[in-house]
Amino acid sequence: MDKTISRRITLLNKTILDSMAEKDIMVIIRNFTEVGITILDADFGFAWWKFQDHEEYRLAYKSQNTPYEPTLPREKAGNYVARTTKKPFFDSHVKDDNYEFNISKYLKSYIIIPIYYNDLIYGSLVLCYKHEHIFTDDEQGWAISLGNSTAQTITIHRFIEKEQENIKKTTMLKYTWKLLQEEKLKTEFIANATHEFRTPLAIIKGNVDLGLQSNGKKPKSPRSVFRAVNTEIKHLSEILSDLAMITSENGRLNNDMTFTEVDLGLLTKRVVKRCKTLAHKKRIALKVKPSPNITILGDRAYLEKLLTNLIHNSITYGKEKGKTTIETIDTDRHIVLKVVDDGIGISKKDLPHIFERFYRANKYYPTSGRRTGLGLAIVKWVAEIHGGQVSVESSKNKGSTFSISLPKEPHSP
Ligand code: ADP
Repeated sequence: MDKTISRRITLLNKTILDSMAEKDIMVIIRNFTEVGITILDADFGFAWWKFQDHEEYRLAYKSQNTPYEPTLPREKAGNYVARTTKKPFFDSHVKDDNYEFNISKYLKSYIIIPIYYNDLIYGSLVLCYKHEHIFTDDEQGWAISLGNSTAQTITIHRFIEKEQENIKKTTMLKYTWKLLQEEKLKTEFIANATHEFRTPLAIIKGNVDLGLQSNGKKPKSPRSVFRAVNTEIKHLSEILSDLAMITSENGRLNNDMTFTEVDLGLLTKRVVKRCKTLAHKKRIALKVKPSPNITILGDRAYLEKLLTNLIHNSITYGKEKGKTTIETIDTDRHIVLKVVDDGIGISKKDLPHIFERFYRANKYYPTSGRRTGLGLAIVKWVAEIHGGQVSVESSKNKGSTFSISLPKEPHSP
């Protein structure tokens, strides 16, 4: 192959490659103007460019030895022809009367190469010759190649820029969405907590008013006022301690937490004994399936709270004369605690939400004692703080099975 041809191909390819990785479009325009000057043996050159699709041409680059300040392209002149025919425009004999100034002082011939993709006009490269230059077929072919390569590179550059913009937008959207969700959760949490406090406070206020009333009616006896106030204070402090437990930062152990060897058999026995009176009222049988001595490293008080909440719920949402079975299973790496009841069950709609703070299904189901919707949130929190997981299976009117899987070797507290 002719040495000059292979040199030109190499130069053009290198410019394409270098420009592919280039972020700054001005550098790409400069690269192609300069390679055009070299390949087509021009004396100097410059580029007119549209930086936005709706914008008009601006001078984007001129080679260092450009002897005059290139004016903007005029209607009907060479650039217009190149742009509308989408072909390079060659002028070997510049005529001064076409210009407002004596241009032949600076150049005698020029090529204007339109850079476009489909209907999008990006700009034009202008290559100038100080002496008259008759363009050969070869040079005309090179001008077309240069235009195509520039357009190809610019199109890819624009595409990458648009993609990056999209990725940026999606990332921003995801981040904003996450913030909004967190904010929504916080607001909901505060609203729910406020609601929980309002009821006991209203009852306290009502009782105190009845004790103090002086509108002719007999005031409520101090003893019964105190009794009612005492119940509500007890309830308030229960909510507060539950809240304090689950609002501590995820994954961080409370200061009062101590991990020791816990015998799950003994723990179950103790919880069952405490819940017997409650179960007896609904004539629910509490059955503990025998299991070999199983111990786990964990916080005894918190594990007791977990089991109490599950057994309590099985009674609260259990049917009269029903049954609750508690089982501890030793698998390869985990201990699974199962609490199975044949109670009212949970609907499919509620099931995904029952571990959320304050979530209550079956709101109108008669229960003894007030419910806060925090019980299962605590169960989940305690399980997770031990490196474990909770799961539930339930069918409406048939019963529920809560399973707590705890690793035998939890992460150290
Ligand atoms: P609470 O019992 O105070 O409402 P929990 O967090 O303990 O709150 O339970 C959330 C909801 O899950 C309850 O309101 C109840 O509808 C449902 N639930 C929990 N345990 C059971 C169960 N064993 N059987 C049926 N429904 C249950």
